[in-house]
Amino acid sequence: MSKNYVLGFPRIGEKRELKRVLEEFWAKKVDFNEVEFISKNLRQRHWTYQKEAKIDFISSNDFSLYDNMLDATILLGAIPKRFQGLKESELYFTMARGDDTRVAMQMTKWFNTNYHYIVPELEKDTNFSLNSKKVIKEYKEAKELGIKTKINLIGAITYLALSNSIDNSDNFLHINRVTSVYKELLEEISKLDDEIVVEFAEPFFAKDVETKVLSLLKPLYDELANVASNIKIVVSTYFEHSNEASKILVNTPIWALALDFVYGEKNKEVLDLIAKSDKVLIAGVIDGRNIWKSNFDKKIALLEDISKIVPKDRLIIGTSCSLLHVPYSLKYEESLDKEIKSSLAFALEKLTELKLISKVFFNEKLSLDDEASIKKNKEDNKKREESTRIHKKEVQDEIKNLKKLERSDKFENRIKIQREFFNYDALATTTIGSFPQTPEIRENRKNFKANAISKEQYENEIKKYIDDCIAFQDEIGLDVLVHGEPERNDMVEYFGELLDGFVFTKNAWVQSYGSRCVKPPVIFGDVSRPKAMTVDWIKYAQSKTKKIVKGMLTGPVTILNWSFVRDDIARSEVTKQIALAINKEVDDLQNAGIKMIQVDEAAFKEGYPLRAENIKNYEKWAVDNFRLSVSSAKIDTQIHTHMCYSDFNDIIKTIEAMDADVISIETARSGNRLLKIFKETNYKNEIAPGIYDIHSPRVPSVEEMVNQIKALIEVLPKEQLWINPDCGLKTRKWPEVKQSLKNLVEAVKIVKNS
Ligand code: GLN
Ligand code: ZN
Repeated sequence: MSKNYVLGFPRIGEKRELKRVLEEFWAKKVDFNEVEFISKNLRQRHWTYQKEAKIDFISSNDFSLYDNMLDATILLGAIPKRFQGLKESELYFTMARGDDTRVAMQMTKWFNTNYHYIVPELEKDTNFSLNSKKVIKEYKEAKELGIKTKINLIGAITYLALSNSIDNSDNFLHINRVTSVYKELLEEISKLDDEIVVEFAEPFFAKDVETKVLSLLKPLYDELANVASNIKIVVSTYFEHSNEASKILVNTPIWALALDFVYGEKNKEVLDLIAKSDKVLIAGVIDGRNIWKSNFDKKIALLEDISKIVPKDRLIIGTSCSLLHVPYSLKYEESLDKEIKSSLAFALEKLTELKLISKVFFNEKLSLDDEASIKKNKEDNKKREESTRIHKKEVQDEIKNLKKLERSDKFENRIKIQREFFNYDALATTTIGSFPQTPEIRENRKNFKANAISKEQYENEIKKYIDDCIAFQDEIGLDVLVHGEPERNDMVEYFGELLDGFVFTKNAWVQSYGSRCVKPPVIFGDVSRPKAMTVDWIKYAQSKTKKIVKGMLTGPVTILNWSFVRDDIARSEVTKQIALAINKEVDDLQNAGIKMIQVDEAAFKEGYPLRAENIKNYEKWAVDNFRLSVSSAKIDTQIHTHMCYSDFNDIIKTIEAMDADVISIETARSGNRLLKIFKETNYKNEIAPGIYDIHSPRVPSVEEMVNQIKALIEVLPKEQLWINPDCGLKTRKWPEVKQSLKNLVEAVKIVKNS
């Protein structure tokens, strides 16, 4: 009897083999055969891992050369016009990455994860037709290895819902066409074996969905489930509950529902309905988004709870979502602290967890090895609960006794004093923090990490960079200078390395988009700040100029949203600890004479919940922690924040509640449009709109920037505005940066004198 189920497996390769070969292929160093060779190896390896772990339902078509949504677009033949006529060998990657004459398709975040998918582009006359053999090919490939897979497909409604409409027509007008293609595909699939499971992922239903869209569900799955009697259809959702959809799906002829019981606790509310129907429930209890070892006892208890309503013979145990969002394996983490390592489980380790939990839950006979692993799980979890490296009384006490949760003075009073103190003009000029990360800077960091140079040599290099960076900004006449961030390779990692409670892995890469991976820091324990993290560098920069130097910190919400966060205490508690650490850094900076301090919240918007019912809480949490992180700032210390967004319409009240003295935002590509919401809502604090796009090497002309500034001051009084680039300059090259910033300063001069 088959009892456990993995929604999908990561594909980039545990040594990032797919990344390497793709990048070599794009650089024309290897041909496509090599890409296919590596890909096939990876698929086989991943299937074999799952088979060896005794997983009953292993996926095919979870592999992709770039992205599964892009694969779906190819499968459905919905090729945007500008790519039509391209040779098959060029089509796929040109859609993903563009070429000299064609812009790439847009990419956006997959729900609230850090994975990005390629957004389909639809219009009224988009044609759909079955256009790829990938699904069939990969099924056969696994079968040759003796592995009968279940086939992963993107559900038709989720596909359409996540598509862009380029002519503003209704994407759902295409539902019948997409259904037809899927029917044709299911007919082909039905010929492959006696019985086949096909999973349609419909995570869109984990959001708040309009009735109109919900009403598409029943006809769609009635039809698909009736194509062939030997196909069993699973509909999966994840990242939240999908109760509205589940209520409908139980009345369709599908075989099973796969639901997330880690991030969608409310899925429990439909257990009754599922029990009354004939549906099988694939209960996602193994966390597919985080890296902590499961607590077997708790997982079994949860499953027992579920089985009080849905009988065991209709239960299968699953991952909460695809394992795409976790790294591969702990086996490369040789140098990771043992104690911390013993509380982790990456994709491979999660397979074993799934197997063991299902054996226990279904009363299968345990081997001696199994018993030892289960015992170890108990011990490790107990150790984790008791560890004094994880749980620190001093930190917890300090949090409990926190008195000053926000600044004491109102903005109106603060800004008066600050303007007097700093004495800056309307349209003051500044930058967002980082300057070009040069090959020399990277080399310097690498050498230092490898112990090839001394600390002194390392620091001297950084000082040289700061000297040049400050001298340049001084010379061109910027008003507020920065040190350039040469000591940081990443705005979260830098702080994580200096804070207690964080560890860094060697190989815990997670795919972000295409061939790109990120290696998030791991927050394992109570966070505290052993010593000042930025003060020396900023002080050094300040000693080189008479102008104001702005200190640079990363905010608590961003640090949290870009890390793997411990799951043994509430996220809100972890954030508070980080906020307190930043708070102390703010205090140290101001005491060292640095009175303008920027606390970046680049990832503020990224953690927004999928369900409206949770938004209030999220916003309160985010705002409270930002306010706490700067509550140490005195009246004449000016707090800046920066957010990489160009749409504030939905969150303007939250921005207002953060109450930063100055907020810098991304506006360059949207002219003055996005400033309007600040005007409409009578936003009082100062705003620093970016006037040129730093994502491209193009140097904007003075004239262009003059026009941009003029457009801005049509909306808001110039006394409320600062002028700066859109974001940090670390990905740019010095010559571009120099010319662009000179032009920026010149543009401001012209506007002031006109
Ligand atoms: N201070 C950071 C920098 O300039 C901000 C980056 C960001 O918000 N993404 O690089
Ligand atoms: Zn930014």
